Amino acid sequence: MSTAKQLYMWHQASQALAASQREMEWLGQEGHELRERIREISRKLDALPETAEPDRQIARLLLEQELWLARQEAERFSASEEQRRQELELAVREQQFRVWEWEQHLDQALLAEYDRVRETKERPIVEVKNNTCMGCFLPLSLSNLARWRKGGDGKVVLCDECGRILV
Ligand SMILES: [Zn+2]
Repeated sequence: MSTAKQLYMWHQASQALAASQREMEWLGQEGHELRERIREISRKLDALPETAEPDRQIARLLLEQELWLARQEAERFSASEEQRRQELELAVREQQFRVWEWEQHLDQALLAEYDRVRETKERPIVEVKNNTCMGCFLPLSLSNLARWRKGGDGKVVLCDECGRILV
């Protein structure tokens, strides 16, 4: 396998890992927001004075209903959250291992090039499909295409148009 291909595999594994980690953070955030909402409704209910006045009673009934719904939602969420969290933890462990595994094969010069391109491009390394760069979707020049086909002769092949590393 060419070193650019290895870099690409590492890049994809890193992206997958980052996505799982983001989802885990988001999971924590959503649970926090639900608990916060329940606290907020409870505070409003507590602040409502006990009275026989019909308007106040309606307000109380509405708040109680809102609280009930929020608790239902929180219950549903925490049941599915726990399962999703376990799945994600497993996925993160596997992905961390995969990233580490690919890292062992990475060419340091290529990695430095990757970091350089990454300063301006979110996806610094892309595939070539139908003689076209999958980063900017422009066709490769004939000379670049020839270089890319030869696997760069041990050198990094960059897209002439967007400067991304080509796999
Ligand atoms: Zn390009």
